[in-house]
Amino acid sequence: DILGGKGANLAEMNKLGLSVPPGFTISTEVCDYYYKNDRKYPNDLTNQVELSIKEMEKKLNSKFGGGNNPLLVSVRSGSRASMPGMMDTVLNLGLNDDTVKDLSVASNDERFALDSYRRFIQMYSDIVLGVPHSDFEEILEEEKLANNLILDTDLSPSNMKTLVERYKKHIKETTNSDFPQDPIRQLWGAISAVFDSWKNQRAITYRKLNDIPEEWGTAVNIQAMVFGNMGDDCCTGVAFTRNPSTGEKKVYGEYLINAQGEDVVAGIRTPQPLSADKKNVERNSLQELMPQKYEELIAVFNKLEKHYLDMQDVEFTIQKNKLWVLQTRNGKRTTSAAIKIAVDLVEEKVISKKDAISRIEPETLEQLLHPTIDPNVEKKVLTKGLPASPGAASGRVVFFADEAEKLAASGESVILVRTETSPEDIHGMHAAKGILTARGGMTSHAAVVARGMGRPCVSGASEINIDEVHMKLIIKNVEIQNGETITINGSNGEVISGKIATVEPELSNYFSIIMNWADEIKKLSVRTNAETPEDVNIAKKFGAEGIGLCRTEHMFFDSNRILYMRKMILAQDFEERQKAISKLEPFQKEDFKSIFKIMGELPVTIRLLDPPLHEFLPNSSEENKELLETINATKEDLKNRIEQLGELNPMLGHRGSRLGITFPEIYKMQAKAILEAAIEVKEETGKSPVIEIMIPLIFSAKELSIIKNSIIDIENLVKEKKGKVSNLLVGTMIELPRAALMADEIAKFADFFSFGTNDLTQTTYGISRDDSSRFLEIYLDKKIIDIDPFVSLDSKGVGQLIKIAKEKSIPVNKSIKLGICGEHGGDPKSIEFCNSIGLDYVSCSPFRIPIARLAAAQAVIFEESNNLK
Ligand code: PEP
Ligand code: MG
Repeated sequence: DILGGKGANLAEMNKLGLSVPPGFTISTEVCDYYYKNDRKYPNDLTNQVELSIKEMEKKLNSKFGGGNNPLLVSVRSGSRASMPGMMDTVLNLGLNDDTVKDLSVASNDERFALDSYRRFIQMYSDIVLGVPHSDFEEILEEEKLANNLILDTDLSPSNMKTLVERYKKHIKETTNSDFPQDPIRQLWGAISAVFDSWKNQRAITYRKLNDIPEEWGTAVNIQAMVFGNMGDDCCTGVAFTRNPSTGEKKVYGEYLINAQGEDVVAGIRTPQPLSADKKNVERNSLQELMPQKYEELIAVFNKLEKHYLDMQDVEFTIQKNKLWVLQTRNGKRTTSAAIKIAVDLVEEKVISKKDAISRIEPETLEQLLHPTIDPNVEKKVLTKGLPASPGAASGRVVFFADEAEKLAASGESVILVRTETSPEDIHGMHAAKGILTARGGMTSHAAVVARGMGRPCVSGASEINIDEVHMKLIIKNVEIQNGETITINGSNGEVISGKIATVEPELSNYFSIIMNWADEIKKLSVRTNAETPEDVNIAKKFGAEGIGLCRTEHMFFDSNRILYMRKMILAQDFEERQKAISKLEPFQKEDFKSIFKIMGELPVTIRLLDPPLHEFLPNSSEENKELLETINATKEDLKNRIEQLGELNPMLGHRGSRLGITFPEIYKMQAKAILEAAIEVKEETGKSPVIEIMIPLIFSAKELSIIKNSIIDIENLVKEKKGKVSNLLVGTMIELPRAALMADEIAKFADFFSFGTNDLTQTTYGISRDDSSRFLEIYLDKKIIDIDPFVSLDSKGVGQLIKIAKEKSIPVNKSIKLGICGEHGGDPKSIEFCNSIGLDYVSCSPFRIPIARLAAAQAVIFEESNNLK
């Protein structure tokens, strides 16, 4: 933490006896001091830096600022977490009008010396003096043109001298002062520039995207330069000790003869492979050209892997046949490579299974489960919304669900674009390859449904405007017509112009090995939130140990059911309602049967109806017409009825158990369908379904006991008619603060509690889950909150209510089962919390199951290591 990643690893490599160019590190504590003290340094820093330079001079028998062996240094950033390319670097520092001559003599290469000076002036002026790099490139091009030269390498020493003079003149003209000749002044200029670059826009954005705290600061590494560009016995290269794309145990690297590290990175010349490969006949490998050095390098890689117990990303330079190691760090890798490398390292007995599990970032598993954007293609990002459901999809823009369905049926890929989605859009969402909405947060309808289906979704893209009349999408000043192609990336929220190539997922054997290890370690069960046989199948394939939430209202979205659902809601009296209900019952029973068949003897938690009623009411004249054709009412009657049912605050309105209390016949129908389905499945398959009926949104024990009694009445009726019913538990969701606080009373009537943390977060914060994205972004920017509480459970507040409910319920009901089924059930941080307070299970959407399994194992490992401390 003090030396930063680069500094710490340089020091460690030095201790390992590897050839590391001498140098020193100014710690991240100085960065902290610098920003807290108006960009000034601690008093003794000057002294320490100068002493360290002297130490380097002694080690190298050279002199900073001249002499027959001039010391040149690089000045580089290096924070705790790697932030590739985000901060500044200065190379060849120490060169001036005198030392360039010394370097020319020492290297016996005037051209090399002058070229290094030219590059240094250019880099230093850009980074420290603020003279743009492009100014120098322009001068360089002019000089080449004037001398009829094509390549930089065609420049003669005398051209270089002219260039250096022109550069210096340009600096004088733009900054009003001379290019600094004093190496110590140069050094302090570069040190400050590196510290300043901690707060440049690039670095700020990168930190935000990667959750790197601003307080960490950067260190500054000052290190003697070594040169890979001093002739053909010199080279510079970058290598991964294993393949970072596939994880294959084979060195993967490239190098350039007679070049500086920057040349490899900039890609001006095509680098050559390190290892010999019969397929690359035209490319000369280091293994062939410098076999001895190659062997030496491989020995270094082995030593580093053995020391760091992980795949390394190493930078090296060979200067006049001497190998120098310039940097090492744990190499960045794709998720599939991360999994293979972790499994291989366990098999090589380098790390334990628990280490392997800890090394894989659960969220990155998403990469394996959904198609992803091909990282090698160029793209034009139009805007960004919330990354609501991961994966990437391209398709034609359509604005209506019916249109989406029609086009998809004719084989087109479509992206459904809506201001917000409602249950009526479900067929369109299903038919679409991806969903884009202008409104809605991470738990909005679109987000929840899309995640459940595994459809990529970008929600709350507030910069988009949908003109449904003219059928176009307006993003800032770009207009996209109906039928034009866009791509959405639900993993990062990007909306991209045109079609972008994607790569299909493929699950490897290594993936199953890691998942099995996770299951051996984890304590929490992982269930799924699913209601269609398709989703239930996917969840089972991903390792779901049960269904934790089957939202029955989602089973009525289908177009031939929604009509009966509407009739049920709009019924004027018991009879009319009963008629609609009896039409819905067979659908329900069939659905439950197919789910029970897939799940066998694994538990299935079925939540009785919890529809925010407004979501089901017809909202177009066409839908009204369809309804009018089948009910006995005038247009006026229907309008009045719909108006009567309208609520000012539907999320807190007539939903959940309130519906069960006011219209008991609805829940009775559902209970009957569930119990009969179970009996029939037992008869057909010999396996007895494990049913958990769950009552939503209660605030009191009374509500639960009334509804539970009516379910037991139904159970008795079914028993009388059909014989024994087995394995029925009745429990409730805890979604309101009052329910959590009254848990001791409620637990007397409940076999289980499932914390519905979407509603519990909504009601604890008093923030609408569907509208939060409009202002939470500002709360995050102002650091009022660290993270969106609808994404990651607020363990302090909402979590406290969960703990209270747990502590109050256990003394009155020792066998009560406790789980969580809000969207947080698939979030690693929230899973860690659930593990720490000893819940029995988490439940999440099918595509998050592998993430939850891994996160649940990591939570156990984390807890064990904390206990050891
Ligand atoms: C919840 O509120 O957390 C929950 C799972 O129910 P829903 O999202 O359906 O309201
Ligand atoms: Mg809820």
